[in-house]
Amino acid sequence: DVLGQDRGDTLGSVSSGARALFYLHTPNESSFEKVEDVPQYVQQATPFFMGLMLLELLVGFLKNGASVVTVSDGLTSVSAGMISRLPGLFMRGLELTSYMYVWDHYRVVELPWDSAWTWWLTFLGVDFCYYWVHRFAHEVFLLWAAHQVHHSSEYYNLSTALRQSLTQQFTSWIFYLPMALAVPPSVFAVHLQFNLLYQFWIHTELIRDLGPLEWILNTPSHHRVHHGRNLYCIDKNYGGALIIWDRLFGTFAPETDKVIYGLVYPVRSFEILRVQFHYYKYVWKKFNRYKTISDKLSAVFMGPTWKPGRPRVGDHSGNPKVTGQEVPYNPSWSTSLQVYVVIQFLLVLGIYHDVFENKTMLSQLTVLALTAYILLTLTALGFIMDQRPSAAVLEMLRCVVMVIMHRSGYMKPLLPSLAVPIEVRRPVERYITHSITSVN
Ligand SMILES: [Zn+2]
Ligand SMILES: [Zn+2]
Repeated sequence: DVLGQDRGDTLGSVSSGARALFYLHTPNESSFEKVEDVPQYVQQATPFFMGLMLLELLVGFLKNGASVVTVSDGLTSVSAGMISRLPGLFMRGLELTSYMYVWDHYRVVELPWDSAWTWWLTFLGVDFCYYWVHRFAHEVFLLWAAHQVHHSSEYYNLSTALRQSLTQQFTSWIFYLPMALAVPPSVFAVHLQFNLLYQFWIHTELIRDLGPLEWILNTPSHHRVHHGRNLYCIDKNYGGALIIWDRLFGTFAPETDKVIYGLVYPVRSFEILRVQFHYYKYVWKKFNRYKTISDKLSAVFMGPTWKPGRPRVGDHSGNPKVTGQEVPYNPSWSTSLQVYVVIQFLLVLGIYHDVFENKTMLSQLTVLALTAYILLTLTALGFIMDQRPSAAVLEMLRCVVMVIMHRSGYMKPLLPSLAVPIEVRRPVERYITHSITSVN
């Protein structure tokens, strides 16, 4: 029964995709001999991200009678997630490339790829390395300039999980290299993805407490603390899937006072490139503020609040006091404009999805052009959400670019009925001839 078999396969892959979001895979079904055979779990997770975000929205409405997410903040988060994966169109992830290089040239032992022991050891190893990736991302000013993107939302919901840094991936790979001395890349590639995916569901306020699981696992409660700007939250709970590393290394804090989310000094913008890059200017300023080379280096490589004479990770006692009355940045805007922005966002999301699906078939120039268009669109939508005076001009420019790209065949229309711009020439000529005829 071929049809039954197909249905079974589909159900199987849906179940596998859903369980990948919670690290609920057995070693048996997620061990592969070759890196090429490792599924693109993160890419396959997109529909589950959307499904769970809609579920969170619904449950939030039922529970609180209010939306857990705003259009502007949610779209900014998803946009950051999209942008952070754009380098993947042009190269294989640095984390895996560098890892494979070290494995190929310097491995000391070869743990068997098909052993459950290797699977569990890699689970622990990747999570341990992630703890240090993440801790350094907070304790080194230059790395924080990249990672602050993830903390820049003043809300906390599943969309916040997708608010990822574009530049963090250019340094995080270093921390995983020791594992390449023994763990096969195919096993590493599985856990790197599972570890990232696990961190999606913990970005929610709707799950309060998970009882004894809170001892071992990183949970929504622990990670809420990590996203807080209250004094007791700063530089705490770095764990990925497990919270044991924080308990071991003294960076654990349980959730007590109401958490106020976001950066100590919020970015107060939905403009996507500003969210990604604005912090680097503070690094540059701080570097220039000091005269001696040792102070300059300390300014960049010590903690964000470091000053001469202060401890390595700085001192947060001078932070603005958190009162619990903080109001997130959320300029009001008309419903019709919100609908317009959501529709434009969904259209560009479709294009984004298509580029990833067809990247091997498209020319480098086309991929580049579409990447630029995606960035332009997300920037223009950010301008609108920020209510900038120049938003209308930029949006008009973007619409012109869109029509040109449709006409020149860079973009395929989402629906055949929208194919007008590409086929416009002949019908127009015919139309003109026809109208001339009828005038006559
Ligand atoms: Zn963090
Ligand atoms: Zn987070």
